[in-house]
Amino acid sequence: MKWEDNVRKTVPYVAGEQPNKAGMIKLNTNECPYPPAPEVGKLLREIDPSALRLYPDPNATLLTDALAEYYRVDPGQVFVGVGSDDVLAMAFLTFFQGGRPILFPDITYSFYDVWAKLYRIPYKTCALDGSWHICPEDYEQPNGGVIFPNPNAPTGILEDLETVERIVRANRDVVVIVDEAYIDFGGKSALPLLKKYDNLLIVQTFSKSRAMAGMRIGFAIGSKKLIGYLNDVKFSFNSYTMNLPAQVLGVAAVRDDAYFKETVGKIVATRERVKESLRELGFSFPDSRANFIFASHKEYSAEQLFRALREDEIYVRYWNKPRISNSLRITVGTDEQMDRLIASLKEYQDKRRRCPE
Ligand SMILES: *Cc1c(COP(=O)(O)O)cnc(C)c1O
Repeated sequence: MKWEDNVRKTVPYVAGEQPNKAGMIKLNTNECPYPPAPEVGKLLREIDPSALRLYPDPNATLLTDALAEYYRVDPGQVFVGVGSDDVLAMAFLTFFQGGRPILFPDITYSFYDVWAKLYRIPYKTCALDGSWHICPEDYEQPNGGVIFPNPNAPTGILEDLETVERIVRANRDVVVIVDEAYIDFGGKSALPLLKKYDNLLIVQTFSKSRAMAGMRIGFAIGSKKLIGYLNDVKFSFNSYTMNLPAQVLGVAAVRDDAYFKETVGKIVATRERVKESLRELGFSFPDSRANFIFASHKEYSAEQLFRALREDEIYVRYWNKPRISNSLRITVGTDEQMDRLIASLKEYQDKRRRCPE
């Protein structure tokens, strides 16, 4: 068919599945197991439907201001979007126009190469080292931009601020994006570096640490100049990206810092406890500073374990891809959910010891 020659063909990103079964334990997309701040629920119930007649504020001023206040930056340094995927997609479109390949790690968030291909941005991946850390020297070659998550996904490994700064410093001629989707679970944000570098864009999300994946709120912080360019592209694309409820509820989430810290603290405590239990069961994993653990077992393949857990209606993430096909990415849920995960893994091992395949 001739018209198909005129179609933009692309291979889409594949998100973790969203099964919805009673009693299942969902540990496959790094969502938060706890509800959002109480005020979020209260306001959600109180939204006046008649307010939905009108378009929302295209600048999302209340949310931008709340984030600026929380992170102690100028409101002109904040950009908000429909989840950080929207913010990142907009940033790729805006900043990666150099002609030279952009650089990102070979093992990383698998949306980066999807956007690069969609926008026809050339890219080159830089291999993580033997212990799955980023090698900063790889980012000291000519390029059209740099992006990496910190902590990285799906490894959970956090790079220190010196490494992040080394990469930003070596790339003053391009935009460097640090995707901090998991920074709240124990990392040091690159935000202080904004004082020195106007080519740095930091992207964060409400989907993980703020328990609002379903609301779709993400944001970026950078120099006013950088944010200005991002806004120009956004307003050339869709003025009303963020709906009214998202703007209102986002503000409520930012305002309840005590609840936020308590939730994150619980997840971090559970993560550290689960690391111990997994180690006792013979798993090994990098020392995650995120809300997931990327674990592999010395005797059983990740695929076998993935299937066994699924039979018990416990969903984790598994990729049949080079370098990572023997690891499972397990989201940290509640203590109770993680106890069931550990029990299921133990049961599988006992069964296999009794009757090896
Ligand atoms: C989850 C995730 C995102 C996207 O999250 P949103 O729900 O779109 O905000 C971006 N980057 C990384 C590394 C992630 O893991």
